[in-house]
Amino acid sequence: MIQEIGQHMLSTEFAKPKPKATDFVLLFEHTDVFLLPETGTLPTYRDWCALGGLDELLVHMLEVDGIQFFTVLDLPEDIRSQLKKDVSRCLRTAQPRWLRLAAVTGLHLYQWFQTHRFCGVCGAPMRPDAKELAMRCTNEDCHSVTYPTVCPAVIVGVRNGDRILLTRSSVYKNPVYALVSGYMSVGETMEETVHREVLEETGLKIKNLQYYGNQPWGFSGAQMIGYWAELDGSDKITLQEDELKEAGWFTPDEIPPAYEEDPLDLTHYMIEQFRARRLPGQMQA
Ligand SMILES: [Zn+2]
Repeated sequence: MIQEIGQHMLSTEFAKPKPKATDFVLLFEHTDVFLLPETGTLPTYRDWCALGGLDELLVHMLEVDGIQFFTVLDLPEDIRSQLKKDVSRCLRTAQPRWLRLAAVTGLHLYQWFQTHRFCGVCGAPMRPDAKELAMRCTNEDCHSVTYPTVCPAVIVGVRNGDRILLTRSSVYKNPVYALVSGYMSVGETMEETVHREVLEETGLKIKNLQYYGNQPWGFSGAQMIGYWAELDGSDKITLQEDELKEAGWFTPDEIPPAYEEDPLDLTHYMIEQFRARRLPGQMQA
């Protein structure tokens, strides 16, 4: 999964390091990422300097084993035009694994910076703070401070005997099979979110919730929290059609082929665990 980077350590602790040639300058635009056109790789500080980039534009975001990652909130057009833009999904295959996690975490922070350019209290511009990872209002009389946000969301693997509930989203054009999932509402416990999402999306009731694991998912600024649950009562599915195009029960042998050999996301990791019959109570085929 995306967070598995072995012995490497990622930190978003606030720091003001002096950039080194081998540090990275992660450049984004909305949900897209800029790459070097010749190699298709992420630009380093050496590349940033060669492109004519200035130190004063760099905003520090994070670090992995002493390698620093910066971003730029206002990318000059003359540098932008020298780079190749790709969808951030291309980061799914970035190597090594620690660089992939750093880039996706950088995307999460970049998007947070970009959506907090103006103060929600007084409307004045906000700037990255000089002492902590935060955005601070530039209005002397306001000085509102806001910190990076993470949105918690649940993933639910619903089991019914030897079958699992798989869904396909109606939001995407070519959705892969997934599990029921959804964001927590304000005032809910995670378990309440699990019950509510399953009921809303499929009309099913569940019991015996078991927490399974969680992961950061910077592509959407989320923290994904996985649960297993058992069907409670009728297995008749009533689809919530504005969210799902399909939902059904699958035995391990009926699950459609995996779309990634080594799933990055918890949803597909959980589906693969079920397919391989590695969960408690599953009989080996
Ligand atoms: Zn303000």
